[in-house]
Amino acid sequence: LAERLQETFKKLRNKGKLTEKDVEQALREVRLALLEADVNYKVVKDFIGKIKERAVGEEILKSLTPAQQVIKIVNDELTQLMGGTQSKINLVSKPPTVIMLVGLQGAGKTTTAAKLANLLRKQGRRPLMVGADVYRPAAIKQLQVLGEQTGIPVFSLGEKQNPVDISLAAVEYARQGGYDVVTIDTAGRLHINEELMNELVQIKEKVKPHEILLVVDAMTGQDAVNVAKTFHERLGLDGVILTKLDGDTRGGAALSVKAVTGCPIKFVGMGEKVDALEPFYPDRMASRILGMGDILTLIEKAQANIDQEKARQMEQKILQEKFTLEDFLEQLQQMKSLGPLEEIIGMIPGLAGAKQLKNLQFDERELVRIEAIIQSMTPEERRNPEIINSSRKRRIARGSGTTVQDVNRLLKQFFQTQKLMKQLGGMAGFGGRGKFKK
Ligand code: GDP
Ligand code: MG
Repeated sequence: LAERLQETFKKLRNKGKLTEKDVEQALREVRLALLEADVNYKVVKDFIGKIKERAVGEEILKSLTPAQQVIKIVNDELTQLMGGTQSKINLVSKPPTVIMLVGLQGAGKTTTAAKLANLLRKQGRRPLMVGADVYRPAAIKQLQVLGEQTGIPVFSLGEKQNPVDISLAAVEYARQGGYDVVTIDTAGRLHINEELMNELVQIKEKVKPHEILLVVDAMTGQDAVNVAKTFHERLGLDGVILTKLDGDTRGGAALSVKAVTGCPIKFVGMGEKVDALEPFYPDRMASRILGMGDILTLIEKAQANIDQEKARQMEQKILQEKFTLEDFLEQLQQMKSLGPLEEIIGMIPGLAGAKQLKNLQFDERELVRIEAIIQSMTPEERRNPEIINSSRKRRIARGSGTTVQDVNRLLKQFFQTQKLMKQLGGMAGFGGRGKFKK
């Protein structure tokens, strides 16, 4: 899915001006890509409809960066489709919070029970895991092994008891033992049937869990969505955990679950290990599908804050490698209005981890100092910082009331930024219209 969509948008980006036909064509491809990824047909139809409406309504074709605008709209709508914002577990004020995990056999309930307990413990909770799958051979044993691995205690009464009694006893045990979260691993079946549902409804009524989370296997695509729908109708789910998203899934389930069932995806399983569970962020997932890190957020910020015309001139300079210390100063001042530089850099795919950027931090006073240093340079030096030798450095330091180290640091930052700007210029075109290569 990601690949196809990225291909579509690459075509779009390579065009300067867009016509209505370009947009139509791109949306047709988006539609096919979604259907191919096993996204529910009706969901796709609504989705494309919404985008079309916005794409036409927002005068994007006349805007400076039409392709990016279209991509941004698609990204926004994808995010909305998946629930908009992150959905958290509802931890109750009077512990223990009881979380019941339900789902079909093999979906990943037992594994996820341990992953979730592990995650919550990392957040400072005291979890207790409960083995209430009394049918699957060795299910309780499996949970106990996971308990040993993670050091999280497991409550069970063996396989002779019924799940309702086990769960009730576990909650009581947690209350007395000071455990504040209880994850209940329930039994699944190969298929949805009355027996399974009745049993789960029983647990729900007697144990009154605060959260019922459905665990579904993302690899099963639309089936996962149908399962979610049925479970939700019978049990009233609080959320869905999508497992095996690390595998070779086409991503369709992630996109349709919320739209079809109304239940948000709360976590995603990204592997077999106990730490492979992540909160689900619709916006990040959307960006991942569109393959551009958080670059959209960056574009958004940049567009809101940077004067478009100036940005264009800057881009020209960057492309022509005429980025000078004067520009640097101006850039710094503009960057300041965007927020912490580190945060901005973190949003650029491929640059996020770059360690040479770690010391690119500027505070207000630093900026004043930089300003003074640059102003103490001759115009020649500002344009060709390469000529600044030791004696020039000493002169500049004296003139600006700083030290040679300060001057050195500034020059280092400048050269790094110059490099960064070149990368940016090639990638996004700061402020738009760029080539947007990755
Ligand atoms: P249950 O029957 O619902 O309890 O499912 P299990 O927890 O026993 O998991 C079934 C299989 O799926 C096991 O082999 C797990 O290791 C595997 N599994 C669970 N979650 C994930 C995941 O997020 N990624 C991958 N790759 N495998 C998973
Ligand atoms: Mg199990």
